[in-house]
Amino acid sequence: MSLENSVAPIDPDRDLGPFCALDGCQRRARHARKHGRYCSDACRAVARKTQATKTRAMKILGRLQSGPCTGLELLAAGGGIRYGARLAELRKRGHNITAENLGDGVWKYTLVMP
Ligand SMILES: [Zn+2]
Repeated sequence: MSLENSVAPIDPDRDLGPFCALDGCQRRARHARKHGRYCSDACRAVARKTQATKTRAMKILGRLQSGPCTGLELLAAGGGIRYGARLAELRKRGHNITAENLGDGVWKYTLVMP
């Protein structure tokens, strides 16, 4: 048997599996069936958390588009307990959201339409 015949051609997709589905992860999802398109449970957890965060931000935006509201109303709309962080992200993405202090720790948030 020659050496050439004993070395199988390398097919990365077959041998190493597809790349992990998490943005920025360069590892291969070798155990894709076990971890659901991700290389590990850790990557899958990060992806789910990121998705949940995006969903909460969209709920906050949707609530503000129907008129000004307080933080408690953002919470009730499904914005999550850290709605302040989501508001900061929305502002970073170019949404003009103002905050008015009504006193006693209550803030009124308004989405200023362009
Ligand atoms: Zn990964």
